Amino acid sequence: MELDKAICGEDLECLEELKQLPTFLKKVDDHAKYLAIVRVSDELPLVKSIDIKKTREEAERVVPREFVDYLIRRALYLKYGGGVANNRCKVCGEPASLIILRRQDTGIFESLVAEARCICGSTWPTELWRCPNCDVRGRESFEVYLLDELRILKCKKCGYKFGEAEQPQDPIRLQTIHVKLALLLRKI
Ligand SMILES: [Zn+2]
Ligand SMILES: [Zn+2]
Repeated sequence: MELDKAICGEDLECLEELKQLPTFLKKVDDHAKYLAIVRVSDELPLVKSIDIKKTREEAERVVPREFVDYLIRRALYLKYGGGVANNRCKVCGEPASLIILRRQDTGIFESLVAEARCICGSTWPTELWRCPNCDVRGRESFEVYLLDELRILKCKKCGYKFGEAEQPQDPIRLQTIHVKLALLLRKI
């Protein structure tokens, strides 16, 4: 099934909105670059180190309410860079929600490299068949749902759901898939 259909069903207005998503996300990134962010402590994740009330007010002026937190997380990532702390995103404090698979040519053999990704853009190394939330490993620990653009994995131990996709060439496409995944996981 197509990812868009999985999110919207037959709702035409919803499908039309998703078509505009890449353009919208580019605009959000432009706002993210100029969002006034001041860190008031050294606390991690980064999102805990800012004056969140003031930053939210600032963000609400430029994006719809449901994208306020997304804008702030994206702004923090663009300003300070990403990374991992205690197996959680250093920016947001959340487990990865998407695993990106990259083909690596090692000469005779081609191998897959797995990278954990948070919706803010932060990435860090991981391995295949490893739960980003509870760290359980092994193919048998997951239920897998296939969609056209990606797979959804559900951890049998902790119930955490996340996506897995091959790395698209275009960064905006990657961000679009990740946001769509978030929209879908909110639903299922
Ligand atoms: Zn993050
Ligand atoms: Zn788990």
